[in-house]
Amino acid sequence: MLAYTYVEQGRFELREKPRPQLLDARDAIVRVTLGSICTSDLHIKHGSVPRAVPGITVGHEMVGVVEEVGSAVTAVCPGDRVTVNVETFCGECFFCRHGFVNNCTDPDGGWALGCRIDGGQAEYVRVPYADQGLNRIPSGVSDEQALFVGDVLATGFWATRISDITPDDTVLVIGAGPTGICTLLCAMLKQPRRIIVCEQSAERIRFVREHYPDVLVTTPEECKAFVLSHSEHGGADVVLEVAGTDDSFRLAWQCARPNAVVTIVALYDRPQVLPLPQMYGKNLTFKTGGVDGCDCAEILRLIAGGQIDTTPLITHRFPLARIDEAYRLFEQKADGVMKIAIF
Ligand SMILES: [Zn+2]
Ligand SMILES: [Zn+2]
Repeated sequence: MLAYTYVEQGRFELREKPRPQLLDARDAIVRVTLGSICTSDLHIKHGSVPRAVPGITVGHEMVGVVEEVGSAVTAVCPGDRVTVNVETFCGECFFCRHGFVNNCTDPDGGWALGCRIDGGQAEYVRVPYADQGLNRIPSGVSDEQALFVGDVLATGFWATRISDITPDDTVLVIGAGPTGICTLLCAMLKQPRRIIVCEQSAERIRFVREHYPDVLVTTPEECKAFVLSHSEHGGADVVLEVAGTDDSFRLAWQCARPNAVVTIVALYDRPQVLPLPQMYGKNLTFKTGGVDGCDCAEILRLIAGGQIDTTPLITHRFPLARIDEAYRLFEQKADGVMKIAIF
């Protein structure tokens, strides 16, 4: 089968590989019907994910059809359409039982697919702990509708879940890339008084204005003054930082009102500074949220019910055979690209 492979730093290649086999009674083999490219894939390519293993098939955002299951798998069976969770988790350890599947203590736990073990930018993928890692897609929900459930949408869902958003709140979302938009969609479910999105790129600002006309939009330069003039208590009640730069980190706490919740969704290239003397009396609550993909079944229900729709994010479609081109486009952020579906 064809598999997009991490050869060495700076080089991915589409290679012919044997089809994956069941290695454990809890495994499933999934035929990938649709995949996507994530910024984390680029981090692997550029060598900033040291635990990524050269030779592995990359890709951790995918949906497909179950081909084969191990003898201990009970939640799915061959023929089921499924989403695949970016995280591998056992379902049994302390953290899994408390819903913190991101912190699963299993040696294979965490982000393994497309990083430490073969992922899904391929025709088939082996999914360990299939009872945990796969969710059945409700009938009536298309592959494109379900494509982001296991990764970026799970990230946005988790971030808003831990942010305690109330109907009175002014919510600031910093960054309107794919994860920012997913976070925005999940924040909208909480129906806060208003949502402000801060974004630099004119293209992405246009995207937000076109698809979410009720959302207020500002730029990093104007963000502080804008938030101040659109909030009752000297800043946003909840800030979700999804941009991941030094400036966006600073904006996140500067734009928060006293006693606000600041949730950090972004992944930074380097440590950030918390100037505690300056923010002493602000009494902020910081929350950090690596994706915790424990709500995929609920997210799929919300998609089936028409409450979440991430399909506008799919701006481009490429066959697996042309994935090199897709990566080039995604990496250069060319042609207004948000997300690319690989079929
Ligand atoms: Zn990802
Ligand atoms: Zn676990």
